[in-house]
Amino acid sequence: MEKTVFQKIIDRKIPAKIVYEDAYCLAFHDITPQAPVHCLVVPKTPIARLSEAKVEQEALLGHLLMVANIVAELKGIRESGFRVVINCGKDGGETVPHLHVHVLGGRSLQWPPG
Ligand code: AMP
Repeated sequence: MEKTVFQKIIDRKIPAKIVYEDAYCLAFHDITPQAPVHCLVVPKTPIARLSEAKVEQEALLGHLLMVANIVAELKGIRESGFRVVINCGKDGGETVPHLHVHVLGGRSLQWPPG
């Protein structure tokens, strides 16, 4: 199966502006930022999307959220506030089939999303 763009970033086959890495995930800047800060937190285990996560991956899912906090701290938006988004499937707006958590901030974000 063709590797996703995120798997290629994890494998260092294509470049990205990496902000954080540990044994379980990688965080980097989104190539098309929708806010002054827009990073993605991606598990190294290629889970296609949230709806396909397995119960034994529960700790990994929690870890992704804790890393979203780390990214917010590193990018200076932990105090001012930020949003985490997971787009799942066609109606959710998912375009890359490798689970990723968007971390957005640096401006006042509107609600509801479109
Ligand atoms: P989603 O629509 O939730 O699947 O989000 C996919 C995100 O990946 C989009 O915000 C894209 O801008 C972003 N993206 C696609 N290719 C790259 C890339 N090579 N480096 C960084 N971000 C990317």
